[in-house]
Amino acid sequence: MANVRLESIKRRFNNVTAIEDITFEIPDGEFWVLVGPSGCGKSTILRTIAGLENATSGNLYIGEQLVNNIPARQRDVAMVFQNYALYPHMSVAENIAFGMKMRKIDPKLIQQRVGEVARSLSLEHLLDRKPKQLSGGQQQRVALGRAIARQAQVFLLDEPLSNLDAQLRDDTRAELKQLHQALRNTTVYVTHDQVEAMTLADKIVVLNGGQIQQIGEPQTIYNQPTNRMVATFIGNPPMNILPAKFTANGFDVFGQILPVPLQMKGKFNLPTGKQVDLGIRPEYITISSNSSNSSNSLISVEVKVVEPLGRETLIRAGLAGSTETINIQAAGNVHPHPGEILNLALDLDYLFVFDTA
Ligand code: ADP
Repeated sequence: MANVRLESIKRRFNNVTAIEDITFEIPDGEFWVLVGPSGCGKSTILRTIAGLENATSGNLYIGEQLVNNIPARQRDVAMVFQNYALYPHMSVAENIAFGMKMRKIDPKLIQQRVGEVARSLSLEHLLDRKPKQLSGGQQQRVALGRAIARQAQVFLLDEPLSNLDAQLRDDTRAELKQLHQALRNTTVYVTHDQVEAMTLADKIVVLNGGQIQQIGEPQTIYNQPTNRMVATFIGNPPMNILPAKFTANGFDVFGQILPVPLQMKGKFNLPTGKQVDLGIRPEYITISSNSSNSSNSLISVEVKVVEPLGRETLIRAGLAGSTETINIQAAGNVHPHPGEILNLALDLDYLFVFDTA
């Protein structure tokens, strides 16, 4: 196993800069997730590590070795793709064994290793089948098995769960996590799904427009996003963004004034009249029975859509005087009616102030 280090990696395709100045180091044995919207450069980074793509500039190290000019097949990385890429004419056992066979490993050892891998992925009963006789989830497990069997230094996964249906995706995600806890191989995992990023990662790298927005542990990314893009990309339902104006009295949200939270005072120096975007996660908004509006952190909204989910109720509401909406996560037994006016108490300790987009 090995650490993976990217130093100022850049990749251009003609006039398009796919990734720019990508620098990070994944310590040996950690599971890192590259996440971001489509086209942000995730796959290009992964393919560059694999050696399927050449960086336009920058240095890439696997372990202590500079691998810029080392071809893919000599890099000792194993890659798992979204579409499994299994050999259709080979059995499951032959697919798992393929990489080892190419490396001319002793057939006895191969057989033993195929057995071990099949056991760890619950594939033993499927070893004689061909890929087309397997479900999508089983095929993806075989693809994982083929990668694991190679005992490569680095494991690269490109959206490996995106072809699976919802339940299978959740189950396979948990299996992947368990597998990594057992094997501890250095892993780089690409996804556009923030739930996969949050649940699997030791560290998340959030990308946008070919650039790193933030690197951190999932909880840090969630609780201390460095900008509006990260704040709204991570979290479901997403963080609410409320356009506001900074005034002498506090933040003016469509005529409703929110005071500047104590811990924020002095932390920034906004000119009066400046437009900002306030961010607050749905879980820090509660429906208040206090309608007097004497409490400073209340804002008044009109219920638009109510979505009962059993354990909780999602409420989309409109801000009085505007077309902006706000998402609220209420308890499962709360069922307001569309058109009803609610007073919302915002926990200002969890209020973010972002530059307008
Ligand atoms: P992601 O994996 O986040 O969806 P990609 O790494 O695939 O993003 O792509 C990043 C950017 O680079 C996109 O704008 C994409 O169109 C461009 N790109 C990727 N591969 C090529 C290529 N072979 N030729 C031209 N442009 C490419």
